[in-house]
Amino acid sequence: MNPETLAAELRRAGVAEVDGSSRRRAEYSTDASNYRVVPQVVAFPRHAAEVALACEVARRTGTPVTARGGGTSCAGNAVGPGLVLDFSRHLNRLLALDPEARTATVQPGLILAELQRAAAVHGLRFGPDPSTQARCTLGGMIANNACGPHALAYGRTADNVESLSLLLADGRSLDTRPLAELADPVGARLTELVRADLALIRTEFGRFSRQISGYSMEHLLPENGGNLARFLAGTEGSLAISTAATVTLVPRAAATALAVLAYPDMPAAADAVPAVLPYRPLALEGMDARLVEVVRRRRGPAAVPPLPAGGGWLFVETGGQTEAEAVAAAEQIVRAAGPAGSAVVTGSQAQRLWRIREDGAGLGGRTPANAPAWPGWEDAAVPPERLGSYLREFFALLAEHRMDGLAYGHFGDGCVHVRLDFDLADRPAFRRFLLDAATLVAGHGGSMSGEHGDGRARGELLPAMYSTAAIELFGAVKAVFDPANLFNPGVIVDPAPAAADLRLAAARPLTGSGGRSLGFAYPHDGGSLSAAVHRCVGVGKCRADLTAAGGVMCPSYLATGDETHSTRGRARVLQELANGGLITGGWRSPELAEALDLCLACKGCSSDCPAGVDMATYKAETLYQRYRRRPRPAAHYALGWLPRWSRLATRAPRLANAALRPAPLAALAKRAGGIDRRRPLPAFARQSFRDWFAGRPAAPGDPVLLWVDTWTNAFSPEVGQAAVEVLEAAGCSVRIPDQQVCCGLTWISTGQLDGARRQLRRSLDALAPALSEGLPVVGLEPSCTAVLRSDAVELLPGDDRARQLQAGTRTLAELLTERDWQPPSLAGVEAVAQPHCHQHAVLGFTADTALLARAGAQLQALGGCCGLAGNFGVERGHYEVSVAVAEQALLPAVRGAGPDTVLLADGFSCRTQLDQLSSRTGLHLAQLLASRLPARSPADDVPTSDPLNPARTLP
Ligand SMILES: Cc1cc2nc3c(=O)[nH]c(=O)nc-3n(C[C@H](O)[C@H](O)[C@H](O)COP(=O)(O)OP(=O)(O)OC[C@H]3O[C@@H](n4cnc5c(N)ncnc54)[C@H](O)[C@@H]3O)c2cc1C
Ligand code: SF4
Ligand code: SF4
Repeated sequence: MNPETLAAELRRAGVAEVDGSSRRRAEYSTDASNYRVVPQVVAFPRHAAEVALACEVARRTGTPVTARGGGTSCAGNAVGPGLVLDFSRHLNRLLALDPEARTATVQPGLILAELQRAAAVHGLRFGPDPSTQARCTLGGMIANNACGPHALAYGRTADNVESLSLLLADGRSLDTRPLAELADPVGARLTELVRADLALIRTEFGRFSRQISGYSMEHLLPENGGNLARFLAGTEGSLAISTAATVTLVPRAAATALAVLAYPDMPAAADAVPAVLPYRPLALEGMDARLVEVVRRRRGPAAVPPLPAGGGWLFVETGGQTEAEAVAAAEQIVRAAGPAGSAVVTGSQAQRLWRIREDGAGLGGRTPANAPAWPGWEDAAVPPERLGSYLREFFALLAEHRMDGLAYGHFGDGCVHVRLDFDLADRPAFRRFLLDAATLVAGHGGSMSGEHGDGRARGELLPAMYSTAAIELFGAVKAVFDPANLFNPGVIVDPAPAAADLRLAAARPLTGSGGRSLGFAYPHDGGSLSAAVHRCVGVGKCRADLTAAGGVMCPSYLATGDETHSTRGRARVLQELANGGLITGGWRSPELAEALDLCLACKGCSSDCPAGVDMATYKAETLYQRYRRRPRPAAHYALGWLPRWSRLATRAPRLANAALRPAPLAALAKRAGGIDRRRPLPAFARQSFRDWFAGRPAAPGDPVLLWVDTWTNAFSPEVGQAAVEVLEAAGCSVRIPDQQVCCGLTWISTGQLDGARRQLRRSLDALAPALSEGLPVVGLEPSCTAVLRSDAVELLPGDDRARQLQAGTRTLAELLTERDWQPPSLAGVEAVAQPHCHQHAVLGFTADTALLARAGAQLQALGGCCGLAGNFGVERGHYEVSVAVAEQALLPAVRGAGPDTVLLADGFSCRTQLDQLSSRTGLHLAQLLASRLPARSPADDVPTSDPLNPARTLP
């Protein structure tokens, strides 16, 4: 049945939210695995009755059904060729939490982090905690039997499930009970199967904690209470769909500490595991030193707290009633484990290390040689006492297959995560490796999966670890629940071949429209845009709310809650453009426009996505290709050329303001320029910064070049003036370029890349003397400064001056901290700062934080984006999302700020958004610092240092 007919059938049956569009199908064509299986239709059930209606249509039409939560499965567990039911949109509530009984009843789409927040109020938590907890759902966790670091102490998800409400393939509902009490025929038939195979189940199943592959038959044994709920955990939606679950909660540790134990290499670290386990730590994780090196390389040395020297570490978490108790327990483990080096940390140091561990899968998405690395063999487990020897043989196998990857994982449970540089286009080689690795792990009594499930990646490998009789038993169980093979076909029983449907094998190079060149150079992806968009492996961090932790990605998803507006959804549509499967209209496809329309181009993903997806660049490229040599939307001319209009207006600012002030004229201008009618037009300053600066005597000091951006020059000259005062106070002699310069930012964000290149080249000409002198270039507007530091070299890859400019560009705070300048006292100043999203992504806020701390200010730096993001929030059609984004962090913080709190916002966009959506005004860092400089007296104009040799102080 074709997608539209199926969607119509579903709607007729009463399922309200159904989408069979090719864009939606592209978004759901893959999870966090290597597989691409295009669904026919995606539905978003609002209640259990709609799930039943949808399944009834599926049954009638013979359409396979795949349930989906956060779509973070690594093995192709959450993709299917028929109807995908997304539980995360509506069926995502916490139904009840009983602190006395320590249970919670949840809908399947509830995100684990939300359950944890609600439980924490009562000193409780859900035990298992996958690294994806900020976006994975309880339904997905149950179906995958997810674990995470704390499963060591609290058990797997299966061990923490009390009961499930289910929908069966034949349309019946079923609430789980022990098999012996189950009135439903399913109970009797399962009991019969178990009775017939008691010896098999007792010998082959439940051998160690991470035997996750296959169905966990041991739970159905009479001595285990015939526990149907636990058995169904881990069946990957292939037997039944859960519509609600009751889970158990455990008390939170009052205090924790982290022992970091260093060893020469990972196998040596693994050898130490058995010595640690008797101390019953809360978590026992392994970490390859090279993974930490990736963090240092990407985020700078300061991103990693000091660690004892070694090639591999064990991170051991201990608990106690007090921090001292937890530390004592950690120190006891250090003594017992005999590492080559060790450290015991608590608090924020420990949290930072755990964050690195959590990002392991994303960071491991590149090998040490920076080749892309993929899941596929990312989750094998062996009994912990075999881990060291397994790892040695595993690394030898990698060498034999000429492959590499960075290992980490739940070593206390024997589970190893590693992403490998498979050549996924070479299917036979991929399959050969999987078969060899499966033989190796089975030889150590292990499991193909230790917590991610089998999905499409490992079902074919099950015969390596299970007898034929056990495999037949899986088939018999499937026949009890789902004889028509409706639920998640291809998973566990009658599995799909592991080397079929590989996403990357279908990828083709992406060229410019009409076969012309691409707009950017993509230096980090070998010049390939196709490789760049395939960076997205689907780990789904872009669906998590990272704002409280200072993150920015992905404001549009947080505003709408729709996969379409997540970085991942957009990357999927671009991947479908690359493989030509679903998106067939090339760069001008409407699906592409829809996917990218609400991308703010905030660049949040370029720093926050562990795989380094940079959607702002891909959006600019798409607009470039779409409108190359074609008429563009009005906003591209009005806003994209704003620096050009500003240059004209600064010649007669009063006239320009007067012309745009009358309401009908302003309305007309907005309508013509594609600007939202609710956005006031900004007023040009009466005197531009350049005009102000022209009349100023040069101050002595070290020469620096101030990059006079359009916004500072035409709209906020007071920011530039304050910066000049501060720089002079810091001993600099400020110069500005001889002519107005422009970084081309608005040309970039509207995809006018040739225009951006022209602007940049012209500016580089103007900067040539300063660059040849090696002067530092100080940027005040973060988005312009970010272009100089990043986009410029991608647009002008062969231009040495662009590279020089990149190396010489500093933010104001960077320059001042590099000069070791003592700022004026800001003691008693409370500041709430909105770091500009491009600053967060490209430049970082560390120097600002350090400078303000040195000045004695109390700083609260916000995450998220202001929502205006350059032209985005001003353009017609974006107002609501722009405001919703401002409500994520900025506006609530402003409402909570006292009247004397300083609102720091270096970005012109951020200050404009504040002006327009709140009653408060934002200040640039330069303005705050300048306001506290000692008042200048005429004597200040007498140089105190020798202008020719600034290091020498004059008497
Ligand atoms: C970077 C990264 C790190 C990870 N770290 C861990 C980790 O530390 N520990 C760990 O255990 N896992 C980990 N995972 C795997 C994955 O995140 C977990 O398995 C997670 O619990 C999946 O939840 P989800 O909501 O994304 O489920 P999905 O991927 O959407 O679905 C998972 C399975 O559940 C089924 N399903 C979903 N809802 C239902 C329902 N209502 N009824 C029946 N079946 C349903 C799906 O069909 C699918 O088979 C990691 C994955 C990534 C990408
Ligand atoms: S865009 Fe990045 S964070 Fe989002 S799913 Fe893809 S890889 Fe993960
Ligand atoms: S640029 Fe910003 S809005 Fe666009 S996908 Fe990335 S994080 Fe989301």
